[in-house]
Amino acid sequence: MSQAAFLYSDAYLGYRFSRSHPLQQVRLQMNCRLLEAYGLFDRSEIELVAPTPAGEADLRLVHTAEYIAALQDLNRGVSVDDPVRHGFGAGDNPAFPGMYDATLLYLGGTKEAVRRIVSGENKYAFNNSGGLHHAMPDRAAGFCLANDCGIAAKQLTEAGCRVVYIDIDAHHGDGVQHIFYSDPSVLTISLHETPVTLFPRLTGYVDEIGDGAGTGFNVNVPMLAGSSDEEYAFAFREIVNPTIKAFKPTVVVLQVGADGHFDDPLAHLALTSRGWLHMVQEVIGYGLPIVALGGGGYNLKTVARLWTLLQAQLAGVQLPDEVPAAYADQYGETNLHDTTAPSVGASIKADCERNVRSVAQTLQASVFPVLTA
Ligand SMILES: [Zn+2]
Repeated sequence: MSQAAFLYSDAYLGYRFSRSHPLQQVRLQMNCRLLEAYGLFDRSEIELVAPTPAGEADLRLVHTAEYIAALQDLNRGVSVDDPVRHGFGAGDNPAFPGMYDATLLYLGGTKEAVRRIVSGENKYAFNNSGGLHHAMPDRAAGFCLANDCGIAAKQLTEAGCRVVYIDIDAHHGDGVQHIFYSDPSVLTISLHETPVTLFPRLTGYVDEIGDGAGTGFNVNVPMLAGSSDEEYAFAFREIVNPTIKAFKPTVVVLQVGADGHFDDPLAHLALTSRGWLHMVQEVIGYGLPIVALGGGGYNLKTVARLWTLLQAQLAGVQLPDEVPAAYADQYGETNLHDTTAPSVGASIKADCERNVRSVAQTLQASVFPVLTA
């Protein structure tokens, strides 16, 4: 039995909006190639697993019949009455032939990761095509067609697990929040750039703590643009870790978006590879099984590095920082960790620090009493 599974197939590249779209899934392949170059698939700690497609019944755990039918029609190139109502259009989510099949394959990777965790075959499983946290029950959003994060949390709950969902993507995990907003059985925690300066704009604020029976089971940690390793480490220490301790989950669904990194072209955060990996290490430190799911990340080379660091960490393998020649020659990358550093001005830094302290105080007053009651 390997400690960690890595779900991947080159068929993942079929999820393709357009040539000029920010989401380019060659990054998933680069991640696989980098792991391969390090010889990780020859080791007993990691198992490379090819996913098989999920089915319509899996989608139905979260999505409406009408939305699924629209996906199926667009998949065959059949036009639908009002594509915009389902989130499809020329901007973020243009329809493409084969989109339903591509979605089922991604979801199949996540489903297999869940199955392996429930059966105990692996302690950790990472599906790098997953993490599509913006998809809503009745519409596509933010490059996401099916909310595999929400479906995974539902499947784990059905298997008797107590689930915490932790989202470190630069963007608010709005779709997952929406799915579980009134549901106390899944604790959702999202750390992200404040929606004041980043998509999805309307949600992700600290005062969104759930509704009805779910009140107190939704945690948002909005970070100011420019927030870096120190502020994120503070957020884990003061907010995430005590929240987890109070909730006592038995499994973690971890969305590992890489767009919080300082060189990401869409977001404005200032995490380094070490600061990003520190969050993953904190989560591993809980000692729980983890279903890790990809997510955002638009500097392709950086995504490949960060998710390789993640997969090695899950497997408990130390990698030399110098990238093997086979990968370095093809992709022009020399080191696993950053070779440059972000620069954040002193006054922005002070604002970021003040912000995360204030967020911690607010949550300590609003959410902590519910979770520790
Ligand atoms: Zn993102």
